[in-house]
Amino acid sequence: MSEYRQDKATREWILIATERARRPHDFRVKRSLGDLTLPEESCAFCPGNEAMTPPEFMAYRRGNEANGPGWWIRVVPNKYPALTPQGSPDRWMQERFFRKMDGVGRHEVIIDGPRHDCALPLMDDWHAEELLWVYRERFLVLQQDARIKLIIIFKNHGLASGSSVQHPHSQIIATSVVPLNIRNKLYEAARYYDEHGRCVYCDMVREELQDGKRIVMENEAFVVYHPFASRVPFETWIVPKAHEACFALISPHNSKTFAHTLKAVWLRLHMALNDPDLNYVLHTRRSIHEVSESYHWHLQIMPRFTTAAGFELGSGIYINTALPEETAAFLRE
Ligand SMILES: [Zn+2]
Ligand SMILES: [Zn+2]
Repeated sequence: MSEYRQDKATREWILIATERARRPHDFRVKRSLGDLTLPEESCAFCPGNEAMTPPEFMAYRRGNEANGPGWWIRVVPNKYPALTPQGSPDRWMQERFFRKMDGVGRHEVIIDGPRHDCALPLMDDWHAEELLWVYRERFLVLQQDARIKLIIIFKNHGLASGSSVQHPHSQIIATSVVPLNIRNKLYEAARYYDEHGRCVYCDMVREELQDGKRIVMENEAFVVYHPFASRVPFETWIVPKAHEACFALISPHNSKTFAHTLKAVWLRLHMALNDPDLNYVLHTRRSIHEVSESYHWHLQIMPRFTTAAGFELGSGIYINTALPEETAAFLRE
């Protein structure tokens, strides 16, 4: 029999379709040689093609001038931004009954490295560490804009993730609205805190560690697990053990551990499932000044084996065809 499971943090229900459940190894991606990523002369993110992107915000580079080669991480504005820094977030009525406002925000691209074919799981440790430190640096810059209400740092990896560029890159979108699902997440966290006097994420981490069935790995600062109410097969969370609402308050030491943890868990997914397409998203409060006892930052990895179908779109209920207990055990081995 299938079963509904509730996400403790959002109170959303998901459906584990055990009738249709597939074994963890069934999710292994079949690829042919033709799918291999090859550098292209026309890749705007490859060294030598810096002029193909808008001028950079920052880069880690040796000596050379801005917007030339010699860099190993580079941050540029998105050439086709979803949002732009100009404008005002004032709501103004224009379309009679309907409301609209300027598309104010930020949309930046972090080029993870100079190599066209080297995604994070295969990077050197020092490079992964610096990449996550750049996430923090850009966050600290964007949070200063008072019009910004939400900062999402994310990665699209592979065609099924929605990525149109093969060269490994991350993105940051900062919006001047708080979308409904984020508002709900914050609200439910506050509600749980109000009721129990504790952070729901701290409670979930404690429960997962005690139970152990869904733990993928653990170190002194982070725990990695497949949530009880996983939305998709192999959904993976990396959560700091110590309570912290904003990601950018991370210490340099823990940031390194975070990079190693992300790299290690993605490498496991990469090896076990043959480089699956995936998205990851960093969930955090919008600024280091927002002290919160109820919210707890975390990174969510969503492998993309399936696309949302009519039922998901209509109901918002995800159907997961794998058991998180089994997928976690599979990745532990
Ligand atoms: Zn490239
Ligand atoms: Zn917490």
